[in-house]
Amino acid sequence: MVKIFIDPGHGGTDSGATGNGLQEKAVTLEIALALRTILTNEYEGVSVTMSRTSDKTVSLTERTDAANSWGADYFLSIHINSGGGTGFESYIYPGVGAPTSTYQSAVHTQVIQASGFNDRGKKTANFHVLRETSMPAILTENGFVDTSADANKLKTASFIESLARGHAKGLEQAFGLKKKADLYKVQIGAFKVKANADALAADAESKGFDAIVLPKGGLFKVQIGAFSSRDYAEALAARAEKAGFDAFIMQD
Ligand SMILES: [Zn+2]
Repeated sequence: MVKIFIDPGHGGTDSGATGNGLQEKAVTLEIALALRTILTNEYEGVSVTMSRTSDKTVSLTERTDAANSWGADYFLSIHINSGGGTGFESYIYPGVGAPTSTYQSAVHTQVIQASGFNDRGKKTANFHVLRETSMPAILTENGFVDTSADANKLKTASFIESLARGHAKGLEQAFGLKKKADLYKVQIGAFKVKANADALAADAESKGFDAIVLPKGGLFKVQIGAFSSRDYAEALAARAEKAGFDAFIMQD
């Protein structure tokens, strides 16, 4: 089991950088939650813990203490830049070498490729979260909130998904993560607007289904189950149809 600790920067009383109507703390949380969904749903043998899953104040020491006591294999801190500029850069602690530098290369390259962001380079810095973690650690700066071109991208759900997918792909490469085998997935809807997917998922939950919203291919898919057996998927789909949902089975 590979243990990935995801740290969405800032939160609560600390908004982080702000600009163009964006708050860093909100964007980092969106990317982190999307990344967690991808890792737990699409990969096997990976376990994820986050320093926060809501808009909560968490000190830097609390973040690194949590990762250290959990015994994480990797610490990934997600931030948004400010101060004028454009694109993506990543940081590791100065002089650490492999495997931290190898992991940085994998994550960095894949985020650039998935996002199309301008490459500002692989850098080092003496940041608390890089210094006080007892496992390899990286901090990514995903665009600039105070540069309107970057901010406009960060405002779209599909771009947030690309950033999350880039991080996931980098982790896949760095840790040799394996994709889950093709499962029979029972879906009850797919939407361009996340709020619509969330509403359907809530409705399904209220009727006793275990619903999750998965961002994929520019859509938000509402899934109520995934099985290696087609019979189980069909039985669940039948139950969903009976409850008034339009259920279908996918293998994507
Ligand atoms: Zn930050």
